[in-house]
Amino acid sequence: MDHIVVAKILDGSTDDSFMHEGIAPCTCPECHLPLKKVINPEYLISLRKTGDIRYTRDRYCLVSENFRIFCIQNEYPGLIFIPLVSSAGYYYFESQKIYPINMELQGIELSDPCLTCCSYRKVKIAYPVYSKTRDNIQHDFICQTEMEFGINEKKSPLIIIGVDTAKKMIDFGLRGLSFHDVYK
Ligand SMILES: [Zn+2]
Repeated sequence: MDHIVVAKILDGSTDDSFMHEGIAPCTCPECHLPLKKVINPEYLISLRKTGDIRYTRDRYCLVSENFRIFCIQNEYPGLIFIPLVSSAGYYYFESQKIYPINMELQGIELSDPCLTCCSYRKVKIAYPVYSKTRDNIQHDFICQTEMEFGINEKKSPLIIIGVDTAKKMIDFGLRGLSFHDVYK
């Protein structure tokens, strides 16, 4: 394997808040893990923190109006922005475009699955992350991994972006971003 950077993981800071305090809606009756992300209309984003991308402690990815404008101007397909009704100017964010990671090269630690909903309590990914894309490497895109990583209800997919996209985000002036390399 050659250590060529083919994409970047986009990360942000973690907010002090939870999207759902207490038990989240739509959980598995057996293991009580959330079955999907549900937006809480009463959720208030912390105004003490800044940054154009951040995660709640239960791993909802939230972005600013600036982040959304950047994505619209660049016409990235398949992105979802759900407005946070109690936190004007912020959105829950995800991508419908899946970025394939190389599961053979990738170190992933799984706990036993729940027999009712098939979700894992623990899905731990080791860095660095390896791409499954061998040829035809794109440089400007925003995708996410199919799998969610983390522990218990604190799980989310990784947002994977092009190497050029990372540069464009910095040039645009988006703040609070951090990046990790994805290798071929
Ligand atoms: Zn379950």
